[in-house]
Amino acid sequence: MNPLLELLDVHRTYQIGETTVNALRGVSLTIERGEFVAIMGASGSGKSSLLQILGLLDNPDKGEFKILGNNVNTLSEDEQAGVRNNVAGFVFQQFHLLKRMTIVDNVRLPHIYSGLKGDFRQEAIDRLKLVGLEERIDHTPNQLSGGEQQRVAIARALVRDPLIIFADEPTGNLDSKNSAEIMKIFTALHEEGKTIIMVTHENDIAAYAGRVIIMKDGLIVSDERRAEMQTSLAVTGESALNISGSGKGSIWQDGRFTGFMAQAFQSILANKMRTFLSVLGIFVGVASVIAMMALGEGAKSAMQEQLKSMGSNMLSIRGGSAKIRGAAQGAGAVARFSFNDVEDIASLRTLVKNATGVVNGSARIVYGNKNWSSTLTGVGFDYGTMRASIPDIGRWFTREEIQTREKSAIIGVTVVKELFGSSNPIGKTIKINRINFKIIGVAPAKGFSGPQDEDDVVIIPVTTAMYRVLGKDYLSSIFVEVASPTLMEQAKTAISELIRKKHRLNEDDDSFNIRDMTEIQKMLSSTTQTMSLLLGSIAAISLLVGGIGIMNIMLVSVTERTREIGLRKAIGARKNDIMLQFLIESVGMTISGGLIGVFAGIGISLILAFFAGWAVKTSLVSVVLATTFSALIGIFFGLWPARKAAALKPVEALRYE
Ligand code: ADP
Ligand code: MG
Repeated sequence: MNPLLELLDVHRTYQIGETTVNALRGVSLTIERGEFVAIMGASGSGKSSLLQILGLLDNPDKGEFKILGNNVNTLSEDEQAGVRNNVAGFVFQQFHLLKRMTIVDNVRLPHIYSGLKGDFRQEAIDRLKLVGLEERIDHTPNQLSGGEQQRVAIARALVRDPLIIFADEPTGNLDSKNSAEIMKIFTALHEEGKTIIMVTHENDIAAYAGRVIIMKDGLIVSDERRAEMQTSLAVTGESALNISGSGKGSIWQDGRFTGFMAQAFQSILANKMRTFLSVLGIFVGVASVIAMMALGEGAKSAMQEQLKSMGSNMLSIRGGSAKIRGAAQGAGAVARFSFNDVEDIASLRTLVKNATGVVNGSARIVYGNKNWSSTLTGVGFDYGTMRASIPDIGRWFTREEIQTREKSAIIGVTVVKELFGSSNPIGKTIKINRINFKIIGVAPAKGFSGPQDEDDVVIIPVTTAMYRVLGKDYLSSIFVEVASPTLMEQAKTAISELIRKKHRLNEDDDSFNIRDMTEIQKMLSSTTQTMSLLLGSIAAISLLVGGIGIMNIMLVSVTERTREIGLRKAIGARKNDIMLQFLIESVGMTISGGLIGVFAGIGISLILAFFAGWAVKTSLVSVVLATTFSALIGIFFGLWPARKAAALKPVEALRYE
């Protein structure tokens, strides 16, 4: 039968800067099942180094190490972690209990890395009974004395029923009474069949062991068995060393993932203030993303609403080239439209719903002693509905008024304000270019379109405008309402052909142009889009800054918990386990910050909408986007710290001060 542990000419050197320390210089050793071995020697003689290699916490630089005949140093890091979890229990001088957890959670911790299902609370309680601490299961380590803490550590070492218990100066931090109790437990465990390998430098502690190995300068100088001490033969356990199969459970397996979740949650809660501050960045970022996007969306839909009131299936036909802006090219270069043209266009029945001629000019308005200059628009009857200009106050023109060149006027709210202040203008008479007009209505407010005040207008019948006020016999433009928005292009071509034929224009003659509102709409929406983008990127930058904050705190957390990581690795945590634990922590932080941020963002947009009267529109997309984004930030900024944690070597992490 193969020996339990077998070392062959093992070397281990440490490199600290320039100096090389030969901690082990060719150690050969065989340990059988059921032995109770004490390793003694002066400080720095290599005791701990030897124990770490025996416990698979460290690997030799040279030489061979076999467990039950299996060469284990060729195993991968994760496989070694699995073997530790299955075969070894560790007891350290510094106890290495996790302060945030209760005793019972500390004891069952190795099970989270075992890949087995279940909560293992009962197993943990049983082991605590064994060390006489069943009354204290819900206490935290801080509430226990040193001796009690070491008993908890022993219970933890036993929870996976290991073959071997490795103890590095287990009584080093304890007084003699507590030391004796710990040694009593070890003796009992040995009698039950456990193999115990213990480092100590005290003779009376070593006296409990059946075999004493003395080291000096990295070599074994003495190896003696006490005759009266029998090796315990109650051990079987060949099957327990299922090396290749150990610790292979998926992280998604029952208990494992939820266990990590619970622990991440615990550690988040353990540093409330710090967590709060680092989450604040994400919170502010997400809240501003939501609010900014709501603002942008609101502005966009307000704009669209306004455009809709202008009519989205509207065409305007003007004389003059679209390319040569306003620069007329001598007589005949600008097409002049008549009412005939309007009628012809209106008779394109399948394509055109309505057409109306418009004439533009400027108006000098006088009321009492007040003067005001405004734009003059002469309109036909259908203009009111087509351009959403039917007054809310007063009325629209009648067909007769338009036919008979009536001197009635509808004025915009800016004109009302300038000339009438707050008094009612309806029924009053004003002079437009020295001609008396009666005001019959106030045009609905339209606000600004670019720099142009759409409410600084006077609207009068088109006939009156042409023949009485401006002295023109042609129209400035024709507005056409196309039957449906899908027919826009078709209508454009048809109207264009019609005009070319009637005015005898060549194919390449551009003495008129047809513009459609969708072009204006496109231009405006691209402006609002740019605005949304700008607001969005400002918010995104704050999210980024928040993410960096999270990364910073995670790095601090990794450094702070180096020894915890070492302990977790010692009891069987693999790289992915550690990484996942830290990732869950950072993602947990960013997602919770993100969710609170979503609510705050919605709240802010509602407040803006309510108090500032701004148009805001929270979209589901922005909520989903912000939440997903904050989760991604958690992963992205948590990954580096998590990898850093996962890459730590168990021995080095355990030694970290
Ligand atoms: P002991 O446990 O007998 O006191 P150790 O095995 O801890 O001795 O250490 C043996 C020698 O190796 C000492 O000189 C120690 O300083 C050195 N040593 C141990 N671990 C490391 C390490 N991780 N890095 C550098 N030197 C180390
Ligand atoms: Mg030591």
